[in-house]
Amino acid sequence: MANDKPKVGIFGLTGCAGDQLQILNCEDELLRLAQRLDIVDWVMAKSDNDHASRLDVAFVEGVVATERDLETLKEVRARARTLVAIGTCAVWGGLPAMQNTVAREVLQREVYHGHANLDTVEALPPTHFVPFELLLPGCPMERQEFLRAVNALLAGTNPELPRVPVCWECKARENACRVVYHHEVCCGAMTRSGCGARCPSHGVACAGCRGPVEEPNYDANITMFAGRGLSWVEIARKMSAFSAPVWMTQGLEQEVRRDDKR
Ligand code: SF4
Ligand code: SF4
Repeated sequence: MANDKPKVGIFGLTGCAGDQLQILNCEDELLRLAQRLDIVDWVMAKSDNDHASRLDVAFVEGVVATERDLETLKEVRARARTLVAIGTCAVWGGLPAMQNTVAREVLQREVYHGHANLDTVEALPPTHFVPFELLLPGCPMERQEFLRAVNALLAGTNPELPRVPVCWECKARENACRVVYHHEVCCGAMTRSGCGARCPSHGVACAGCRGPVEEPNYDANITMFAGRGLSWVEIARKMSAFSAPVWMTQGLEQEVRRDDKR
């Protein structure tokens, strides 16, 4: 009998493989997914892989940090009808792209003690190079968001993704605000929701791991932080840890670089 299940590939570029691990951690749901999907190419999870066939859906995690990464990404794009970026590295650049914002001499001095060739090292999100149909940020991505997205793709619809900031979820959970009550640098107002405000709900300020919310209101946030004696450069630096390439296009680059040299 012909196999008419959608063909799926799951790929990792440079990164920690945390998003692929999230998929493996789906456990019971993974078995159900395996019954509905034909996962033909997933090097991390199986040994009999088909590296050539057309794919209905391909999931890509990690950043492009090498020529090989870029070749792999282009090959996957050419094979896939629907390409989905999984995790903040693939969507925004994540932690690997943080080093792009730091002057090379600072990296050499503080991290590598003069022992690395950093001339050509730059990490960029795959979204910088090829178009994607769907973006699932998070460090790692949220398991439930991934499963909802897969269900929507199987149903032929677009998954509904959260558009409000983390603050919205934080208020819904009636947390005491880390900025207002603790005078901490919390990135919740600028970060896209979907994690259920996990960190503030455990008494820790949001570090911005899901990347910028759509249309962040920079001016209002700068004013809010300044009014509490907090530097907006601190929040820019904190946010840029997970989504440096996009922040660097938002006019914050000079301030962050100036701050690095202090
Ligand atoms: S603690 Fe952070 S996420 Fe929660 S409301 Fe305050 S700024 Fe927003
Ligand atoms: S609260 Fe912020 S840092 Fe924590 S998981 Fe959510 S987006 Fe990431």
